[in-house]
Amino acid sequence: MKAFVIVAIDGAAASGKTTTARVLAAKYGFMSVSTGEHYRAVTYKLLHMGVSPDDKRAVERALKCMEMGSKVVGSRGVVTLAGNRISDDILRSKEVNGRVMEFAHIACVRKFLFSYQRSQASIAREHGFFGLAIEGRDITSVVFPDADLRFFLYADVNERERRHNQRKEIDSIALRDSVDAPITLWQSGVIRIDTGFHDLQSVIDIISARMEEL
Ligand code: C5P
Repeated sequence: MKAFVIVAIDGAAASGKTTTARVLAAKYGFMSVSTGEHYRAVTYKLLHMGVSPDDKRAVERALKCMEMGSKVVGSRGVVTLAGNRISDDILRSKEVNGRVMEFAHIACVRKFLFSYQRSQASIAREHGFFGLAIEGRDITSVVFPDADLRFFLYADVNERERRHNQRKEIDSIALRDSVDAPITLWQSGVIRIDTGFHDLQSVIDIISARMEEL
């Protein structure tokens, strides 16, 4: 296997991206990163600064003083703002859940997070991890099109809605699918895995088999 491996995991909401990245990270000594958290952190900060997603100039100005950083917690690379970690409760709060898509679709927000997300590979290297398992929409197409391995997880919408409800999240998967459709694109060359058909272990086995070939 290569000395440092980047695995990019793309796909729709509640398709199993985060769990897959974390299990993979634990198995191979990689750092895992959920890029949805980056969009959530930016949303949280902008809301608290009173910035409206309709005011693109204000969004741009606010991004310039965002002070976004990273911290390694166990095998997770987590986002910090002005040196402080933001709790999962805040990142997944009703307020952030309800607004994250609005901010995530603004071009300057995506551009701002692009370099931040690319920088996660160096952070993983500096901390002695053997690789990076990074997940999120557009990770295989825009952020890490050059990753060693690229996967796209998908499942029937009813199955994803069922999993999502188990986590007691309140927003609808169907709505997220329709809003996020332009940034959730499968590209030729990216390995598709149906997580309605394959359970977590089977997904990890499929990815592991590809890892052995590197
Ligand atoms: O993955 P998670 O559900 O935390 O992502 C929340 C929202 O952030 C998504 O619905 C999407 O609008 C946005 N997002 C994105 N690009 C990513 C990850 C998340 O636009 N790479």
